[in-house]
Amino acid sequence: MKGIAQLRGTVRHYDWGGYVFIPDMLQIENPAHQPFAECWFGVHPQATSTLIWPGGDQQSLLEYIQSDKKLLGEATARRFGNMPYLLKLLDVKDMLSIQVHPSKEAAVQDYAKENAAGIPPDAPHRNYKDDNHKPELMVAMGEFWLLHGFKPVAELKKTLGEVPELNNLLPVFGEESDYKALYRYVMEMPQQQVNQQLKPLLDRILPQYQAGQLNRSSADFWAARAALTFNHEGITDRGIFSVYLFNLVHLQKGQAIFQDAGVPHAYLEGQNVEIMASSDNVLRGGLTTKHIDVPELLKHTRCEPTEVKILDGEKEGALLRYRTPAPDFELSKITLGKDDTLTVESDTAEIFLLTEGSVSLSDGKNTIELRKGELAAAAFAGQKTKIRALEPAVVFRAGVPAN
Ligand SMILES: [Zn+2]
Repeated sequence: MKGIAQLRGTVRHYDWGGYVFIPDMLQIENPAHQPFAECWFGVHPQATSTLIWPGGDQQSLLEYIQSDKKLLGEATARRFGNMPYLLKLLDVKDMLSIQVHPSKEAAVQDYAKENAAGIPPDAPHRNYKDDNHKPELMVAMGEFWLLHGFKPVAELKKTLGEVPELNNLLPVFGEESDYKALYRYVMEMPQQQVNQQLKPLLDRILPQYQAGQLNRSSADFWAARAALTFNHEGITDRGIFSVYLFNLVHLQKGQAIFQDAGVPHAYLEGQNVEIMASSDNVLRGGLTTKHIDVPELLKHTRCEPTEVKILDGEKEGALLRYRTPAPDFELSKITLGKDDTLTVESDTAEIFLLTEGSVSLSDGKNTIELRKGELAAAAFAGQKTKIRALEPAVVFRAGVPAN
């Protein structure tokens, strides 16, 4: 056991990312004006993080954990055999695709199926990158907008009644409130018909959007923005329907939301800290130029109303715990005033991610500091870490729930 170490994440330059936020957090220049969408911390094979010990020695986090499973603690080693979660910093400048993640059972089955069919891992029509589920929890770092699950019955009926260009969807939803029939209808609609049906809607809302007459609490705002972002020659993105079918959620700084398997969602704008099971399995449902596999999407989408549950966290002293049913991860937020200290005991491999201020971390063996440019650290089972705020600070703590 070598003690606590700094952790360097891996940046993903997806085209929806912002140019300033993540480079500023990492204190790196961005002269090529690249989008910085995500910074990953964890052991996912597509982007494993690097440990840096005091003195400068470096090692991949994955290699280190695999060299000694005791670092995971007994329960996590037995249940998962690896660090089961992935922690991310996200900067959403342009809206992301609508997506759904499979359940664990479905991911195991369908990953094996695609392997057996010989589909290369990087093929554009490959749906399953690994055999894991991907429940997700995100905490807003400022105002954050997203789409999250289907609207409850009364609200959905109200929308379909009030938006004149969507009135024809009311009978499809019907007296039985058939979510599946409605979603299937818009996802399987021939492209020509999508273009025709959405044209009058876009003709009405695009001038309003461009004149600055719409605000973010209106689905029209996001539908117009989606059209400007994703429509291209002769193709109106069918995800625009979903902007009206799903709950539009506005989170304030520090508020969180959990997305379990099967809940369709799309991040629209803002910055967050996100934790998920270590997986990259995504099925897309529009607001994208990428591959959409409609039968697979419908198979994994929970076509039912979603009651939006915003999580404010449960306070335990300086620590705020965001509880979810996911066995793969647990996320807490630690808020400290200058010179405040908090000692935490790790029973598995944990990641500390600083989002504000600066702190020192000592475990009796090593002392390291986190500040802008050096945002993260990893601690392992059996370690006791004393966190001291060098200035007012916010640190996220990622680990695995007990039992
Ligand atoms: Zn997702």
